[in-house]
Amino acid sequence: MSLTKYKLVLGLEIHLHPKINKKMFCYCSSDIWGKEPNTLTCPVCLGLPGALPVPNREAVEKTQLLGMALKCEINQKSRFDRKHYFYPDLPKGYQISQYKQPLCVGGSLKLDNGFVVELDRIHLEEDVAKSFHVNSQTLIDFNKSGVALIEMVTKPVFTNVTDAVDFCKKVQNIIRFLEIGDVDMEKGQLRLEANVSVRTEEMENANELAPYKVEIKNINSFKFLEKAVNAEFERQVEVFTSGEIPKQENRGFNEATGKTVTQRDKEEAHDYRYFPEPDIPPMEFDDDYLAGITSQLRELPDEAVSRYESMGISLATARTIVNNFGLDTVILFDQALKKGLDPIKSANFLVNKKEIIEAAAKGSEHLYSMLEQLIKGNSDNLDEEKLAGVIDQVLEMNPKAVGDYKKGNTNSISFLVGQVMKETKGGADPMVVRKKIEGKL
Ligand SMILES: [Zn+2]
Repeated sequence: MSLTKYKLVLGLEIHLHPKINKKMFCYCSSDIWGKEPNTLTCPVCLGLPGALPVPNREAVEKTQLLGMALKCEINQKSRFDRKHYFYPDLPKGYQISQYKQPLCVGGSLKLDNGFVVELDRIHLEEDVAKSFHVNSQTLIDFNKSGVALIEMVTKPVFTNVTDAVDFCKKVQNIIRFLEIGDVDMEKGQLRLEANVSVRTEEMENANELAPYKVEIKNINSFKFLEKAVNAEFERQVEVFTSGEIPKQENRGFNEATGKTVTQRDKEEAHDYRYFPEPDIPPMEFDDDYLAGITSQLRELPDEAVSRYESMGISLATARTIVNNFGLDTVILFDQALKKGLDPIKSANFLVNKKEIIEAAAKGSEHLYSMLEQLIKGNSDNLDEEKLAGVIDQVLEMNPKAVGDYKKGNTNSISFLVGQVMKETKGGADPMVVRKKIEGKL
């Protein structure tokens, strides 16, 4: 089997629950996590005959806001469509979704490595119920039925799964920065589907796609995405190697075997018999309305990183604060900086001392005084000369670690850095200490 001859083609569908109080087309609560099954339902979300859906305005607004953040074109005319299929978790026999006129079309997002991910569309729909298979029985919980679901579809642009994971993490952070949703994957608030196909190198060079795609459903973690796509890629290459073409179908990933398994044949769009939802009038958005949504756009994660960089904070440190710590920390840190702290020193303490982040939860005042003390203590007590003295002392007292390092065991330097940090009561910058020790040895 030659994996190098074949190239991966990957597109993503990201499903997320926007943070709103009600379901998409009724007034049931959307706060479904951990609730007793079938306690958050009404005739609309149970799909009873004659019940009339009313779209949730906030869900529409949040979808458009996300579209604006991702440079989509916002359709001024949009509508809902019925998507028909039969499944126990869908009592109406159709799902209210969007087909011909989604809320947002196109759009793109640039990854940190410069790769630009092109989007196909972002639309709004309703989630389905949840089925459980217990022994030979199927149980259904309708609490999730009718919860608003934003669906983002990328073009099949990914040629490796690492970029796909980076993209998902970036999107997740944007959603959190704009407070569109909490997107907690463990709670099912963000779910992924991967469209996987394989092509030859010649096809890749000619920018040609394969005539089929396999959809992997229900991906609920980034690790899972990586494993499932890699397993499916290998399976398809094997099918090709045996002289056949993989079938267009839906597959699931079995974590125990590390392989994907067939679920059902993949429908073509015409199988869904889409038609306009007759119970919901088409939507029209005028310029004033859209200007109102634009005004809700705030600083996006990449813009926050650039702002920190312009203060002299290193790119890696800025990304750690923004992407790993998230919006709450950015807000607190900004408030603390406004009181006149040195941004570079503060940022270094913030990313190097775990206890600061923990303590910062008590508020920006607390964060400010902690950082202020650290910076003051650092400059009062720890001039270059003093630090050099501490390092010499630590090296002298730990001949074994020094010897190990000289023998090539580079791990022992972490121990030495730790000893210096202890002696300076955490006042030194561990990166600086490491460099100085490396210089001396
Ligand atoms: Zn309901």
